[in-house]
Amino acid sequence: MNDRALVEDLRCHLTSPQRVAKALGLKVQQDGGSYVLVLCPVHAEKNASCSLYKRQGQLKAKCRGCQWRGDVLDLIAAAEGLDGRSGFREVLARACELAGMSDQAEALRGGRRAPTRRPRPVLTPEPERDYPLPAEVSGFWSACIPVTEDPAVKELLSGRGISPETVAASDLARVLHVDTHPSDIPSWAKFRGRAPVSRTWTKTGHRLILPAYDADGGMRSVRAWLVTGEPGQPKRVPPAGHRASELVVANRVAVAMLRGEGTASRVVVVEGEPDFLARSVLSPGDAVLGVMSGSWSPELAARVPYGSEVIVRTHLDEAGDRYADEVIESVSNRAVVSRLELAEAV
Ligand SMILES: [Zn+2]
Repeated sequence: MNDRALVEDLRCHLTSPQRVAKALGLKVQQDGGSYVLVLCPVHAEKNASCSLYKRQGQLKAKCRGCQWRGDVLDLIAAAEGLDGRSGFREVLARACELAGMSDQAEALRGGRRAPTRRPRPVLTPEPERDYPLPAEVSGFWSACIPVTEDPAVKELLSGRGISPETVAASDLARVLHVDTHPSDIPSWAKFRGRAPVSRTWTKTGHRLILPAYDADGGMRSVRAWLVTGEPGQPKRVPPAGHRASELVVANRVAVAMLRGEGTASRVVVVEGEPDFLARSVLSPGDAVLGVMSGSWSPELAARVPYGSEVIVRTHLDEAGDRYADEVIESVSNRAVVSRLELAEAV
């Protein structure tokens, strides 16, 4: 068997997240069935942030702490402290051992014994960015006012065909009062951009606020939407200095689904905050999830109920295609997925 065929063979054999993690001595901190969370083999950490999961029949690894990602061979190289290029044959030999192909492993080593393994290199721990403190997030959200009380927000929403009254009644978004005293605004509710210093969202105009949820349906952060402000500023921003990945915006039905409380039969995945609000107003009975860059994760996919219908309505451009592929790949084994490709107004 040549190397390329062997690589393919190994990728098809080593697919169980649980078994591969165990064989490599990676500490599993969470077993989600279709995925496991292990301590990252690439960066030093105390709380597992590296997911091992199956995608299109093959094992993939992705760390949300250091953004490292790879296939099963990359994972073996990282876990064993091997160089994926200069030590590639040893990576293959190790993979053969894990797959129970000891003859192949021996052949690859040319009859030599397996080299003594180097201890894993000590990596400098990088500071792990986390979400804002839960108490600060809920305090901030509680202090926000209904969207109907801010004329500029009402105008912004109405201009997009989104009823401010429905948004307020369904509590999909709120407003950071423009006159909130700076001492009552959390340190992360700021944006800097190209300005010399960061300014509070009341000053930059990012005061339309949407809660952002993790895969368990916990409100972990917010998204702040620009209502009025200087041109050139990003329209929507996350809290400054904090992690924003693997969070979605979600309507009531979707939050219940993530919490494992409801039985959503239809899940609609849209891209970005405006489409999220528009879709949530139009189909309040569906679980509506709004994704941004870095939102989707295997943990989120695992929350989609088996046998449900998933409709992906991301934008018809490169980014939208990428989000759609990620969602479709990860839920196609549990749900009936379709992508809406009509360029229609929501
Ligand atoms: Zn990592």
